[in-house]
Amino acid sequence: MVTNKLHFLLIPHIGPGHTIPMIDMAKLLAKQPNVMVTIATTPLNAIRYGATLAGPVKTGLPVRFLELPFPAAEAGLPEGCESTDKIPSTDLVPNFLAAIDMLQQKLEQRYETLESPPNCVISDKYMSWTGDFADKYQIPRIMFDGMSCFNELCCNNLYASKVFDGLSESEPFVVPGLPDRVELTRNQLPPEFNPSSIDTSAFRQRARDAEVRAYGVVINSFEELEQEYVNEYRKLRGGKVWCIGPLSLCESDDSVKSQRGNIASIDEQQCLKWLDYHKPNSVIYACFGSLVRVNTPQLIELGLGLEASNRPFIWVIKSVHREKEVEEWLAESGFEERVKHRGLIIRGWAPQVLILSHPSVGGFLTHCGWNSTLESVCAGVPMITWPQFAEQFINEKLVVQVLGIGVGVGADSVVHVGEEDRFGVKVKSESVKAAIEKVMDDGIEGNERRTRAKELGIIANNAIKEGGSSHLNLTLLIQDIMHHANT
Ligand code: UDP
Repeated sequence: MVTNKLHFLLIPHIGPGHTIPMIDMAKLLAKQPNVMVTIATTPLNAIRYGATLAGPVKTGLPVRFLELPFPAAEAGLPEGCESTDKIPSTDLVPNFLAAIDMLQQKLEQRYETLESPPNCVISDKYMSWTGDFADKYQIPRIMFDGMSCFNELCCNNLYASKVFDGLSESEPFVVPGLPDRVELTRNQLPPEFNPSSIDTSAFRQRARDAEVRAYGVVINSFEELEQEYVNEYRKLRGGKVWCIGPLSLCESDDSVKSQRGNIASIDEQQCLKWLDYHKPNSVIYACFGSLVRVNTPQLIELGLGLEASNRPFIWVIKSVHREKEVEEWLAESGFEERVKHRGLIIRGWAPQVLILSHPSVGGFLTHCGWNSTLESVCAGVPMITWPQFAEQFINEKLVVQVLGIGVGVGADSVVHVGEEDRFGVKVKSESVKAAIEKVMDDGIEGNERRTRAKELGIIANNAIKEGGSSHLNLTLLIQDIMHHANT
């Protein structure tokens, strides 16, 4: 069937932190007049993330999935391992990366089944094969990295300057060319500059090459949050940078929010009831995203820090292969019993956006993944920052130093995925407690931080409304692709 609609083909990286915002983006794009969206992903991901799309699609939202069979067996992976959070052991990371590359052929084999030829591909940075794919079919390709302009600019300047070369791992340096003075150390950098023991350098280099070649970049952020960084990054990319976020705000229905990213491990109503019972701004929400697997001694320190804060909390625990020892500690140490009247433990997946947007949440203890960071900004909630890996230390700088809406627990270096046991305890419970106290404090500093967070939350919510900066950027993006399609 031929259609006159502008057709966007979205190709997310298959991991929650990357797919979730792209599903939101699909919704946002498809709500625009004369736009249709296809999301190319694997069958299990289509089921997992399709849940939040089912309702709107039924009532006519023009979004559909193009399912690409996942080559698990070909790549030597167990069946069902279709997402970064399902990789059973880090030894299998190279196999997973190989499987991702095989998706190019799967997509090309199904290209003719698309409803119409796409006018634009929006693909994740780590689906680097989409560069060759888009070239082959002569479609403009826009990169989505799931990060802020602050991070993009930092990384670009680090690539260009290699300012850390020759420095020791813990020697601070100033990231050159930024509007603010931002100091980092080598062991706080993302794996592009600070590799883990799993060699992913070839994969990352290809992602970088595809990034440089991309027609433009869409960013899950809003201009007012980081205006100077948006301006600088836009200059660097020849103008084609569109901040269209916060993407998590595309959904207002609570029951849809609670299914975002996965089936929640707690009943939505039970969770809301628990939150309703507490005073405004009193609850700490602690969650480290979808991939972080804190080692058991460190997890215990985190728990003891929450307990010592003497405040109500929701703690999301994803212990996976450490489940037995974590459960033993929760029970045998008496922790769960001691905190039962003020601590809600969610084992597995939490309805995060729903929780954060509840008025009783007063602080978010976060690993500083960009989605979590931005979701906290949207909810006007200040952060207790505990970065773990990837670009999370860079995000912490934005939150704590530039925006002034967070307090760090004092994490000083990356704990690469799969290497957690090598590190033991890096942050003690006293430091967790101290950072929580600062964020929840009712004095001048705490109140100013809270006010800044609330103000940013209002600006974030306005950015996506008609007349807002992200709404305008979305219109400009569509116009750009429309113009491209007509020339
Ligand atoms: N998330 C959630 N419930 C969980 C854990 C994560 O809803 O229990 C969502 C969270 O709202 C965010 C995403 O998963 O949208 C995690 O992305 P982020 O960039 O924060 O971290 P990553 O998982 O990529 O490290």
